[in-house]
Amino acid sequence: MSVLETRGLVKDFGGFVAINDVSFTLDHAQKHAIIGPNGAGKTTFFNLITGHLEPSRGTVRFDGREITGMPPHRIVKLGLARSFQRINIFPRMTVWQNIQTALIARDGKHFNMLIAGASQNRQETSELLDLVSLDTESDEIAGELSYGKQKQLELAIALAENPSVLLLDEPTAGMSPQETRDAIALIDQIAVTRQLTLLFTEHDMNVVFGIADRISVLHHGELIASGEPEEVRTDAEVRRVYLGENEHAAA
Ligand code: ADP
Ligand code: MG
Repeated sequence: MSVLETRGLVKDFGGFVAINDVSFTLDHAQKHAIIGPNGAGKTTFFNLITGHLEPSRGTVRFDGREITGMPPHRIVKLGLARSFQRINIFPRMTVWQNIQTALIARDGKHFNMLIAGASQNRQETSELLDLVSLDTESDEIAGELSYGKQKQLELAIALAENPSVLLLDEPTAGMSPQETRDAIALIDQIAVTRQLTLLFTEHDMNVVFGIADRISVLHHGELIASGEPEEVRTDAEVRRVYLGENEHAAA
């Protein structure tokens, strides 16, 4: 069953076509990777889906309804959440306060001075901390966490919206090999616990082929392949324009 669909999606940046006629389907409970060289259009594609950019042409449907042109906060409310390629947290607040603030914002409330600060949304804040394995870092200043842990916090903030679909833009970018392994294990586990459909971009092919059950390939803004990992791995065009290139680069 498809949960997210684009039809003929185009993004033209003043004559430069970053996304070119992309028709794409994400199925329920999939762990779907979008791959493609730098500049292929992966982040732009995510921005079109989440309302951060308006498409020049084409449509986006989520859960059976058209969301093309909707503002990001409304799309999030429908259950489509994302993390960004760059860290997006409040660096001066504690870990606890970051999550609590996300929950308060989600509920459309304001921080309530009359309720003893830390107790607002206490139960849910604590559950999210556990979920992303930051329970022992609760009182630490977010900006002082290791990079990997800041990404975990970002994940908790995205999950505060209770999404059914989570988009992750390069979730392991900038991580050490150990941090990468931990992050992937965590994401995998959360996808199961929260019954999430995952759509992610990733440059590390070990990660991609390790967790994705479906892979789509963007090249110069065009979707050149979409299929099961083995199909994509052996696809002649994909090998020529992308995977082949990587092998040369690694050699
Ligand atoms: P990826 O995430 O796959 O590395 P991007 O989606 O970030 O690729 O970028 C795709 C192409 O679109 C790049 O050539 C980039 O320079 C261009 N691009 C992205 N955003 C803009 C923008 N706001 N204005 C003009 N060009 C852009
Ligand atoms: Mg990108």
